[in-house]
Amino acid sequence: MKRFSKVVVAGVLAASMVLFAGCSGGNNNADGDKDVNANAESQESNVLKVGTNAEFAPFEYVNEEDGTTIEGFDIDLINAIAADQGMTVEMENMEFDGLIMALENGSIDVAIAGMSVDPKRAKQVDFTETYYDAGLNIAVAIDDDSIASEEDLAGKVVTAQQGTTGANKAMELQEAGVVADVKLLANINVCMMALANGEVDAVIMDIPVNNRYVAAHPDEVKIAADIVAEEPEQYAIAVAKGNTELLEKLDAGLANVKEDGTYDALIDKYFGAAE
Ligand code: GLN
Repeated sequence: MKRFSKVVVAGVLAASMVLFAGCSGGNNNADGDKDVNANAESQESNVLKVGTNAEFAPFEYVNEEDGTTIEGFDIDLINAIAADQGMTVEMENMEFDGLIMALENGSIDVAIAGMSVDPKRAKQVDFTETYYDAGLNIAVAIDDDSIASEEDLAGKVVTAQQGTTGANKAMELQEAGVVADVKLLANINVCMMALANGEVDAVIMDIPVNNRYVAAHPDEVKIAADIVAEEPEQYAIAVAKGNTELLEKLDAGLANVKEDGTYDALIDKYFGAAE
């Protein structure tokens, strides 16, 4: 399909940019404008420094064969948006709970990481329009029939990824005296390992990511229940607070890729039929 060639070209350009992209350090300048300058420079050279946490399939993950290429829905989406706006992408893989700080100190321009818009984050960074509706659910070991709802987490040990909305939910259930204990871990793979080892009884994680893991490991884990939330969780792209110029470009690019069919093609590519 024609749309995809655009995405592929952006990916190739992004890959080649990495070869001669300079170091992005030097943020601790006494001059408070330094960060703004760093952003402006990288945008002038049309290279967008994009941070993600590539442990969140199908949104972002490391290609298993080469062990280095970062792929996924979010990666194709940001490449398509960047290409639409005449920019190329340089990816940086980091911990999820370091992304907001990296935006604040200017070491990245953009974070795309299945990041849900929430009021606390919205005070620290600016979000584009949302691009995906998610939410949380509960995964358990395949042979565990004791959990069929959120209430059934009573007395259980629960894990979630630190710094995420799933972690907030787990802590909330602990504070409410429901779950017995919470173990916050670095990413879904270690959460699932803790489940397999019997260290925890349940994994609270984003629905599309838990579902993808379950689909890939159908003999080990299953989905027990959805977490019923008052507000739906929605993913958006984050930029440093006040970086309006970049935010406007990203919103324009997002609107364009939604309109020209690229977005739907990516939904199809990563989730089968449009969801
Ligand atoms: N959507 C969740 C959040 O924003 C989890 C994101 C992630 O782990 N990449 O907190």
